Amino acid sequence: MEEKESEPEHIRLVKETELYKNCTNIVIGKGNLNANILFVGEAPGKNEDEQGLPFVGRAGKNLDELLAKVGLSLDDIYIANILKCRPPENRNPLPEEIRAHTPWLIEQIKQMKPKVVCSLGNYATKLFLSEGDIDTMNNQPGITTLHGKVRYVNIGGVKVKLIPLFHPAAIIYKRDLIPLWEKDMEVVKKEIKESVEQKKLI
Ligand code: URA
Repeated sequence: MEEKESEPEHIRLVKETELYKNCTNIVIGKGNLNANILFVGEAPGKNEDEQGLPFVGRAGKNLDELLAKVGLSLDDIYIANILKCRPPENRNPLPEEIRAHTPWLIEQIKQMKPKVVCSLGNYATKLFLSEGDIDTMNNQPGITTLHGKVRYVNIGGVKVKLIPLFHPAAIIYKRDLIPLWEKDMEVVKKEIKESVEQKKLI
């Protein structure tokens, strides 16, 4: 009899969580997997859960507009979240949920090998700064201190340039963050340009 192929560990871990049992769709990502730049958010919301795609609700519309302002589209980037399933009532992720869902994100990073990662908001920023160490991520400084500052981090064996950005959902309510976001995006564009030029030299 043919042996049934077992499910990869990172998928099995997600499917064992309560979040998976209560969600409509697993939200993996969208955009160009061959791009040099990966954006990472926190978790799917209601619209994302219904459509099975990240950043399609209000925060997503805002992100699309903010990216368009600097000439970036889904052809230039890939977007994923830490959590692959929506937390009830969009509550904050619990440490054990981050622990169970992060291996899938790390698999995505190993597959994509992005040069630049833009972490959106506090959770993604702290996760990357701690290089995936869930037990210490809360000791990391927050987004208000770190936005727009480039750091090298090693996540799942892949060395990336991390650029923390404000979460697009926060920018909906705090419009005074827009000029800071635009300034941070200049840093992102410069890093993308450099990584493209480096590729040409190889
Ligand atoms: N906020 C996130 O962090 N991710 C989404 O996919 C949508 C909203």
